[in-house]
Amino acid sequence: MGQNILLVGPPGAGKGTQAKILAEQLKIPQLSTGDILRANKAAGKLTPELTKAMDNGGLVPDEVVIDLIVDRMQQPDALNGALFDGFPRTVVQAEALKAMLGKRGKRIDVAIAIEVDPALLIERTVLRRTDKRTGQIYHLKYNPPPPDAELVHRADDTEVAVKKRLDAYARDTSAVIPFYEKEGVLKRVDGVGDVGEVTKRIFAALGV
Ligand code: AMP
Repeated sequence: MGQNILLVGPPGAGKGTQAKILAEQLKIPQLSTGDILRANKAAGKLTPELTKAMDNGGLVPDEVVIDLIVDRMQQPDALNGALFDGFPRTVVQAEALKAMLGKRGKRIDVAIAIEVDPALLIERTVLRRTDKRTGQIYHLKYNPPPPDAELVHRADDTEVAVKKRLDAYARDTSAVIPFYEKEGVLKRVDGVGDVGEVTKRIFAALGV
């Protein structure tokens, strides 16, 4: 039976990188509201207000991301477990997710909080690059891309936008951690170290 797992942590904690690996190994889809929003933006389907909120490092409104995730969760591959990455980012979203899973008789089985010293997060994000062909995430210093990668730099991975994203995390998203602590499903994982090491810690936390 596929599990419903989520990753929460500040920007640059490694959620996207780990989510890809975990989803593949656990054979459940990665549901990333950030990826869905970026795909909608690239397809010209996002309003200018939402594009601006994203690029500036703010959150998009709860009702927008909740609609996106409801839609995504109804696709066949997500009916039997999923890995939520970057959602929920507010307690309102966490409550909505609980209600959506509840309708299926399911719940979040494990919420993994990836912890990284805030001092490291700016460098982790500003030097982050993605290969647009594969979606693979690299870091120019710590995980350099191969020479043939077609790199893109996220519009919100600038120092100014990352500082705003860290503020949004502290103000709105960090409250998601005590929410899952109360639900009795929270596991904290140290997110500092190389990618494989952090993956091992997450699997240990999942009991796999
Ligand atoms: P991410 O790729 O998860 O870092 O998301 C990139 C950006 O998309 C965020 O900085 C927000 O502007 C927006 N976003 C993604 N997921 C959410 C969410 N669950 N709630 C609100 N905004 C979101």
